[in-house]
Amino acid sequence: MDYRLSRRAATLSPSLTLTIDTRAKQLAAAGEDVVGFGVGEPDFPTPPHIVAAAVKALEDGFTRYTAASGILELRKAIADKMLREQKVAYDPTQITVSCGGKHACFNVVLALCQQGDEVIIPSPYWLSYPEMVKLAGATPVILETTDETGFKLTPDRLRAAITPNTRLFILNSPSNPTGAVYTPDELRALGDVCVEKGVLILSDEIYEHLVYDGAVHASVASFSPAHEQHTIIVHGFAKGWSMTGWRLGWSAAPAPIARAISAIQSHSTSNTTSFAQKGAVVALTGPQDHLAPRLAEFNRRRLLAWERLNAIPRLTCARPEGAFYLFPNISKTGLDSSTFCARLLEEERVAAVPGIAFGADAYIRISYATSLENVSKGLDRIERFCRKL
Ligand SMILES: *Cc1c(COP(=O)(O)O)cnc(C)c1O
Repeated sequence: MDYRLSRRAATLSPSLTLTIDTRAKQLAAAGEDVVGFGVGEPDFPTPPHIVAAAVKALEDGFTRYTAASGILELRKAIADKMLREQKVAYDPTQITVSCGGKHACFNVVLALCQQGDEVIIPSPYWLSYPEMVKLAGATPVILETTDETGFKLTPDRLRAAITPNTRLFILNSPSNPTGAVYTPDELRALGDVCVEKGVLILSDEIYEHLVYDGAVHASVASFSPAHEQHTIIVHGFAKGWSMTGWRLGWSAAPAPIARAISAIQSHSTSNTTSFAQKGAVVALTGPQDHLAPRLAEFNRRRLLAWERLNAIPRLTCARPEGAFYLFPNISKTGLDSSTFCARLLEEERVAAVPGIAFGADAYIRISYATSLENVSKGLDRIERFCRKL
């Protein structure tokens, strides 16, 4: 048999997070007490009124194909939400409901990028971005940022990286994995560069609601009509509404791009799960009071973990203002991130993600989407691990 893979498949990097994750699950299954700092999803359940709406839709027989881009009711609810919160006006036809924010990103990259195109991605990056760009045949151009600048890219560095082949700039604020949040002024300045140079922006705003210390999330599309014309917003239900398993996200794009995204989706996944869409409508139109207490709980964990990390010899950690991750610098331990995480798991039973997975080997990612008690226990163990190095 000829099992030759397509060039497209062969250029993909295997997920570096998988080895640690598999080993952590193995240990846990064997009855070991593993503290999981690896997960990228909220530990809270989906609010019950959202669940009830999906159950009702299922019982009512709402089980057939829907419009490929999503039911109009949901696209209207998304447009209303975006006008209300992100301060950007979209017609429902500009919105495509996809199988998660990840799928929405992938559709955008496929719709816009091809062989010969360059896509600027600041590192540390969400690990799927460069792989999506490679799948589309285009070339990721990675711009490294560090904790010294709060993991933020300056407009000058962005401008200097733009070439005639630059098609897209991928912006993720609040950031996974660093938790960095650009201020509105910083975002506007990055957007100005893209407008000036005619570069499109993929703005991944999935952590919109998870900001702390008085930080505010602004959408880069909201600053002017020109900014909006250069931006495709990606968002989803996974993080703010604790709906990771529902596989629901969306893109909002200028009309010609939205049409291409819809066409691509209509020939691949087609519509997302019908009754899940009914739950999503209620997620947007129903009460939002789940958010404040969850945010307060995330914040308690964030502050505890951040203070503890900075008290550990040879570790330093920038103060993240968003998402639910900390991204401590481990370079003074002399270990690379894969070794650090492998040993931390074997010796202290703490699972964290090596920074190399996000293009940043001097760091590890700690998710605090776990109980305060676990955060405290895990930090005790990390401290013991670092003291004996
Ligand atoms: C979680 C996440 C997403 C989307 O996740 P889905 O589960 O596909 O909705 C998108 N971008 C970033 C940066 C994320 O962390």
